[in-house]
Amino acid sequence: MSGNRSQVIIQSKRPPLSSAAPVKVTTPSSVNYHFTRQCNYKCGFCFHTAITSFVLPIEEAKRGLRLLKEAGMKKINFSGGEPFLQQKGAFLGELVQYCKQELQLPSVSIVSNGSMIKEAWFQKYGEFVDILAISCDSFDEQTNQTIGRAQRGKSHVENLYKIQSWCKKYRVAFKINSVINTFNVHEDMTENITGLNPVRWKVFQCLLIEGENTGENSLREAEKFVITDQEFQDFLDRHQSIKCLVPESNQKMRFLDCRAGRKDPSKSILDVGVQEAIKFSGFDEKMFFKRGGKYVWSKADMKLSW
Ligand code: SF4
Repeated sequence: MSGNRSQVIIQSKRPPLSSAAPVKVTTPSSVNYHFTRQCNYKCGFCFHTAITSFVLPIEEAKRGLRLLKEAGMKKINFSGGEPFLQQKGAFLGELVQYCKQELQLPSVSIVSNGSMIKEAWFQKYGEFVDILAISCDSFDEQTNQTIGRAQRGKSHVENLYKIQSWCKKYRVAFKINSVINTFNVHEDMTENITGLNPVRWKVFQCLLIEGENTGENSLREAEKFVITDQEFQDFLDRHQSIKCLVPESNQKMRFLDCRAGRKDPSKSILDVGVQEAIKFSGFDEKMFFKRGGKYVWSKADMKLSW
């Protein structure tokens, strides 16, 4: 379990000494939980490629979530890999229900490619989800196939529209994530994005991470997807009329869990506790806020007209 953390400074409980330094406690207010790295898509730039199929037993996953809640977590985001792959969404469903009902977290969100989601899942678990983000890089099916963000014989775009309508029906805030790369950088998505009307459209510049999607031991070779900063800026300029667009340039992204340019796992919170695990994770609080890590994240606060 890795997390985005905000940091607070508290005074030591011991009688204050004039020279005593404040004790720093880091609060994992917003956490990303990638419980699986397996996926049914093969996006050429993906850095969550499957190197293991291990998924924590559900009771252990819940224990970790409770530890994070006790340490101050307010927002949990489930992603992958593809989080709906595990037990056809039942594993994820049980976790979102636990986070909302038992832990009473203000914000429970999911990032998915959308290919495995059925209406029955919304009927059962929709009420426990604040935000569902679906990845879509293009409204041209051929481009999605070229990128790898698709399954043969299935329309990723049709599915996106279907999920948008279910989000509306079951009152889940709908979000879109797009990775801008060589194959979609010249596309104009204004009409489709405006029609889909997401609460946020997060637009990422394709990023290289050593050992994950580039380099000797990586499972992907993402170099051919990389675009320049200027190309990314041109894409943003073309879509400047879209008010919900939130850009994530490489400069903003690179801080997260990639110290020294690669993602190194920190210790497990289940073994060493939340505070000890955070020490090894390389969190940069200033960048978390600069990147827009804290925003309106409960559907109750979004003033949505369903
Ligand atoms: S859908 Fe997401 S997790 Fe799956 S291959 Fe594409 S980028 Fe990776």
